[in-house]
Amino acid sequence: MFNLSEKKDGRVYEMRQITETTTSWNLHLRRNMHVWEEEQYNPLQGTLAQINNEEGDDSWSWTKDSRGIFTVKSMYELISTPQKISPSPHHPFPYTLVWKKPVPLNIKMFLWTLVLGRTQTVDNLNRKGQNLVAVCVMCGMLEESILHLFLHYPKSLEIWAFFLGFNSDLYASIFETGSVTEWLLAWPKKRGNDLSLIVWQLLPVAIIWIIWKFRNGRTFSGKEITTGKMVMEIEGIIWYWGGIWPGRRRYRFQDLLSNWDNIINGAS
Ligand SMILES: [Zn+2]
Repeated sequence: MFNLSEKKDGRVYEMRQITETTTSWNLHLRRNMHVWEEEQYNPLQGTLAQINNEEGDDSWSWTKDSRGIFTVKSMYELISTPQKISPSPHHPFPYTLVWKKPVPLNIKMFLWTLVLGRTQTVDNLNRKGQNLVAVCVMCGMLEESILHLFLHYPKSLEIWAFFLGFNSDLYASIFETGSVTEWLLAWPKKRGNDLSLIVWQLLPVAIIWIIWKFRNGRTFSGKEITTGKMVMEIEGIIWYWGGIWPGRRRYRFQDLLSNWDNIINGAS
């Protein structure tokens, strides 16, 4: 939610909108909330409703102590009496996105670091104290970051456009997305036959994984990047991952290749 706000250094009272009869909150979000963000927003509204709101600077206060000061004693009392701990808040980690995908374990691990923002892109390595050239090896123009590499690097865009060409609204939303996690979470559900459903579900993960593979080939071995090869590998790996699905036996790889457009359109 914080990432979505266009007023990150605003004070709490500045987000408040008062009319004669109501008080509401405007967090200055740059787009409408998705369902899972509303799940975070609703408890936040409840919390905001309980506070005394005054104009002035915000400050931290420890609510388990009457003076608002953190003490180890108050923390100890809190955790040694479980009923004092309110039901666990909505856990922001997108568990199903990472661990419930029908992909091999190494891909899950990769997705896990990606969702945590810890993929070893150059910006992350430099933040950890390395001193690498910050420019993306793929385009040579912008800083390499997770968002840039996987979504906005020109050849990555070409790949997304290639696979999403039939759905220009979905493709256009890639420019409003604030993170790869957000993009994956917003990946729409689809109708279609069983093969379409599997392919569609695996598609974004396959694209991201193959971009990473080509990026590493480029970074470590200076290999050429061609979108044609990337597309082939994406289709190939979807087929390979799909092997754990028993229904795949009814199809041949050739069916996937020759009927690709219909399959991702959900028309076949
Ligand atoms: Zn780049």
